[in-house]
Amino acid sequence: MTKFNEVTNATKTVWAGEKDYLVHGATQVPVVHSVSFGYDDIDEWFEVAIGNKEGHIYGRNTNPTVQSFEDKVKILEGAESATSFSTGMAAISNSLATFLKPGDRVVTIKDTYGGTNKIFSEFLPRLNIDVVLCETANHEEMEKEVAKGCDILYLESPTNPTVKITDIKRMATAAKKVGALVFVDNTFATPMNQNPLSLGADLVIHSATKFLGGHADALGGVVCGKEDLVEKIYHYREINGATLDPMAAYLLLRGMKTLDLRNERQCASAMKIANYLKQHEAVEDVFYPGLETHPNHEIAKKQMKNFGGMLSFSLKEGLDGVREFLPRLQYANRAANLGSVETVVGPARTTSHVECTPEERKALGIPEGLVRYSVGIEDVNDLITDLEHALSYVPVKN
Ligand SMILES: *Cc1c(COP(=O)(O)O)cnc(C)c1O
Repeated sequence: MTKFNEVTNATKTVWAGEKDYLVHGATQVPVVHSVSFGYDDIDEWFEVAIGNKEGHIYGRNTNPTVQSFEDKVKILEGAESATSFSTGMAAISNSLATFLKPGDRVVTIKDTYGGTNKIFSEFLPRLNIDVVLCETANHEEMEKEVAKGCDILYLESPTNPTVKITDIKRMATAAKKVGALVFVDNTFATPMNQNPLSLGADLVIHSATKFLGGHADALGGVVCGKEDLVEKIYHYREINGATLDPMAAYLLLRGMKTLDLRNERQCASAMKIANYLKQHEAVEDVFYPGLETHPNHEIAKKQMKNFGGMLSFSLKEGLDGVREFLPRLQYANRAANLGSVETVVGPARTTSHVECTPEERKALGIPEGLVRYSVGIEDVNDLITDLEHALSYVPVKN
């Protein structure tokens, strides 16, 4: 397989991971809709089945279209290996379940994605796994908890929806001292802006549903890292069955060809929009790691190439202001996803943290009037005009 060492990620998004899967002279990867793969020679069949020879046996295990998708992400993350899942949550839960056993201890942050937070607060404790939730940007607290002994350090940076930043390299160094595995959810940053493996992480996870696919038309998840770790996760998934569908893999693969192009536009627009919102009289607070006022802007600058297409902001009028503002946006889907070519907005209380009670959201520092804004690829001036119009309906408290 071509390693693409000599080209940048922009070129890799277009070319990487595809060549080995082309057939009949086609220039595009086929969608292989086949549950099983047949062999006339029973010795060959056996060799493939036990993994001595390359090939496919059964769709729950492997599929060529799915593998092409895994190869592309693997190359973009600079990983040895990758394996995929039906959703981002399946990637997260299966990866945790592969390595955890009763009595283990996980150190993580309070601001993980809502679903991930539920795994930590609801499902793992039930299996007698101790989970410690630390303040996301409190590195000293996290280092102390890690030093007490831990099996997995689970991070997400930037976080959803308040885009908080954790110093991945610093925390990975702390985790290595106690022999813990470091997981990083890289969904918000994408491989274009951040490569956690190069910062010391053992495993990097994506909800491919978001920026990787980029068109809000396919669900998927992926985990990348060292071959021996990913092999174990693959084995857990092939038995437990949260397999990525070939049609979804094809849509994700197709979407990823424009990942660099989309990301460039989305990062530039997000920066402009964050600056615009910051000076608006109806806006209370703007959260974007690219802003110099972001508490961990310096860390973000150190570990990220660009700051991503996600921002959030709160209105002085709170939820009442959001009720006036949100319905008036013309160029935004009011929906639960993010990272697509269209701009997507929603209050955190109905999107990322809908699973939480108001008290839980408060404890997480998520105002009920917080709006998550996933910047699409539209013209940024049109988006600002749209925001300006919708915000003009929000009464301004003085
Ligand atoms: C959406 C999301 C997930 C979950 O992904 P699904 O594909 O919806 O299961 C995990 N982490 C982050 C940061 C997300 O935004």
